[in-house]
Amino acid sequence: MSAKNCDDINPLASASKPDGDTSGAHNLDAHAMPVVADIAHDLHNLASNFKTRLYLTEKSPQRLAEHLAVLEQDANRLDALVQRLAAISQPQLDSLTAALHPLNLNDVAAPIFKAYEPVAYAKRLTLTFETAPDLSPILADVLDIERVVINLLCNALNYTPAEGTITLTTARDNNSVLLTVRDTGIGISSQALPHIFERFFRSEEAQNTTLGTGLGLGIVKGIVEKYGGQVEVESTLGKGSVFKVFLPTNIEKPAALYLH
Ligand code: ADP
Repeated sequence: MSAKNCDDINPLASASKPDGDTSGAHNLDAHAMPVVADIAHDLHNLASNFKTRLYLTEKSPQRLAEHLAVLEQDANRLDALVQRLAAISQPQLDSLTAALHPLNLNDVAAPIFKAYEPVAYAKRLTLTFETAPDLSPILADVLDIERVVINLLCNALNYTPAEGTITLTTARDNNSVLLTVRDTGIGISSQALPHIFERFFRSEEAQNTTLGTGLGLGIVKGIVEKYGGQVEVESTLGKGSVFKVFLPTNIEKPAALYLH
């Protein structure tokens, strides 16, 4: 079993084991517990990115400006995630709406694609990004949409063996924008497929491939549904997977969106 690039340790796995331990983090209330676990999951992804980028900075100092730009983006995401953690412990912040802005999906996904290009290269994977022009904006919190893209891309990177391909695509689809993450990786069995969005679920094939928490897809689904969108998946065991995220572009829609 090899370590995951995006999620190479499993700090949350014990949360899936009903061991009767009610100490420490288990004292968090039922609302806060999953939010903390989800944020911890994405903070861990960020920590892995930091390490990768520091390694690259050492290896190719001539590209310092590029490395610093990625580190700055990661630091901003780190800050935003920590603010969400802080809001959990301060109930008066709990009702704060997320920072909603009209966003172009291409603009959100492009820096993430750039940031993960070296990870794909190191794994001998071909990573491409195909963008549709003139996408309508979505009204969303940028951190939310970044978490969706990062989690899907990390999964594709983690579950695709060397020499495979991963394609990120944006498109228009009626009153939505569509993000597709397609890979030629290990795929998902028809038995596992109905369960992959369940918290802590991991397919047998995934367990034999990498370490992980089984939280990433639940995070993706939760965020996408919060914006009135949906996630679809098609997969063939041993051949690859296609994840599609539809996000509505009706930015007039009243947004009763909260941080959690
Ligand atoms: P994790 O990757 O930590 O296991 P996720 O919630 O992101 O957690 O994914 C849940 C499960 O869905 C994975 O364990 C794996 O079985 C399956 N899965 C998700 N994405 C892919 C993919 N791109 N290729 C194959 N299996 C996937």
